Amino acid sequence: MSTVGDGKVVSIEYVLLDESGNELDRSPEGEPLVYLHGARGIVPGLEEALAGKSAGDRVEVRVPPEKGYGPKRKIKPQEVLRSRFPAEANVVKGARFVTEGPEGRPMPIWVTKVQGRTIYVSPEHPLAGVTLCFDVNVRDVRDATDEEIAHGHAHGPHGHAHHE
Ligand code: ZN
Repeated sequence: MSTVGDGKVVSIEYVLLDESGNELDRSPEGEPLVYLHGARGIVPGLEEALAGKSAGDRVEVRVPPEKGYGPKRKIKPQEVLRSRFPAEANVVKGARFVTEGPEGRPMPIWVTKVQGRTIYVSPEHPLAGVTLCFDVNVRDVRDATDEEIAHGHAHGPHGHAHHE
């Protein structure tokens, strides 16, 4: 039986809670998250906890911010005009966009507040500083294809969707 490790494509169903038991996120019913293990597709603490597991295993793990989305850095959100976003984009609190970083590299930003035509954005992940409590069911573990290894992410149903 295949076990989770580098170079494997892993399908997981998960529920993510904060330390008080509030649900933060979950994989949609019947649509497991599919990721390439060892390619930093998921937070490091969860990736570590899943190593060596196989299909059918259940994993409960508490991930501190250092192994999750990092410590809270208290970055002051920046104001951006709505017109700078694509017209069809769903610009709501928590939405993620990609902008050009200081060295021309893609940089993710998150909407922290919407105030009329003014949008506040921050490069800090909304879950920075949060301890993440994952309850995970491993659904499938398979070898990655050469193409997936080259791209650094999983393909196929529920995998990375940049080939549309
Ligand atoms: Zn790809």
